[in-house]
Amino acid sequence: MTRPLPEAVQTKAAEFFDLTVRPLTSPLTVEEMRAALSDFDGVVPTLGDMFSAEIFAAQPDWRCRILANFGVGYNHIDVEAARSKGLAVTNTPGAVTDATADIAMTLMLMSARRAGEGERLLRAGRWEGWHPTQLLGMHLGGKTVGIVGMGRIGQAIARRCHFGFGMNVAYHSRSAKTLDFPAEQMSSLLELAGAVDVLVIAVPGGDATHHLINAGVLDAMKSHAHLINIARGNVVEEAALIDALTAQKIGGAGLDVYEFEPDVPMALRMLENVVLLPHIGTAALEVREDMGMMSVENLRAFFAGETPPNAV
Ligand code: NAP
Repeated sequence: MTRPLPEAVQTKAAEFFDLTVRPLTSPLTVEEMRAALSDFDGVVPTLGDMFSAEIFAAQPDWRCRILANFGVGYNHIDVEAARSKGLAVTNTPGAVTDATADIAMTLMLMSARRAGEGERLLRAGRWEGWHPTQLLGMHLGGKTVGIVGMGRIGQAIARRCHFGFGMNVAYHSRSAKTLDFPAEQMSSLLELAGAVDVLVIAVPGGDATHHLINAGVLDAMKSHAHLINIARGNVVEEAALIDALTAQKIGGAGLDVYEFEPDVPMALRMLENVVLLPHIGTAALEVREDMGMMSVENLRAFFAGETPPNAV
């Protein structure tokens, strides 16, 4: 395990394997990644462990047979390069869905209702008391949310918006979806961006979605609309977002992920019209335990000669 995981997960893993837990919370260095591949039969990597094609190419063969990623997003692993060396890759879908959708709603509410701004005002001792026109935000009821990437998390967000907040749902997605709630599919991302009051990003990271949300998409958004990103930082062109927020071209943004995280530009941190969370989409003990148990089950199944449940 490349990071300490919840105790119950480590205990479970130790039932099946000779377990080594790296006692650090930082991403693996290049040397540590090579050592992980050469010294272990299976590795549980996670976000930030950049298993690139160069890492796999450094040696003809590796001892490691499987990377059982802790997390649903695996854009930090070059899966093709891993496969070319005979390694399996698995992830932890499903375990993260509701928790991440909840954080999307947190960001949506905080951004639309200016909650971060209000908290900063109060903590700074600048709150002079209630009055009828103070900190007026956008009411979510009856507004339209646009989901980019109507997968597991996208659908969980849409359900919350529809059933919980009485919002209209629109989405852009590559494949047709069968949904049990009303939602309008839009043929282009620009059309969706221009039609909604809140645009939520829920696609996977990686080359195919890099800077999917660029200046053109931000320009297409309504001037009062909010952008929410719980997916991966580099899906949004951060410099273009900073420009749009600084010029108040959009109403605001709520972010859980950053293009160069953990570096978050001062220009972003200084803005009032953005809510910034430190990548806490799945940060609840039971969720992290469920994720870890899925990783362990993928490893167990793989080494028992079964098909791991969550191969990618
Ligand atoms: P998922 O079920 O695979 O959904 C992703 C959706 O994105 C798919 O339904 C796909 O829909 C769409 N998509 C994929 N590639 C695309 C592309 N190139 N262009 C446009 N749309 C594309 O995955 P999920 O479980 O919902 O998770 C989504 C992502 O959320 C993860 O990959 C992860 O990076 C991120 N995440 C973040 C946190 C956090 O802590 N903030 C936590 C969990 C997950 P179509 O094929 O139908 O278009």
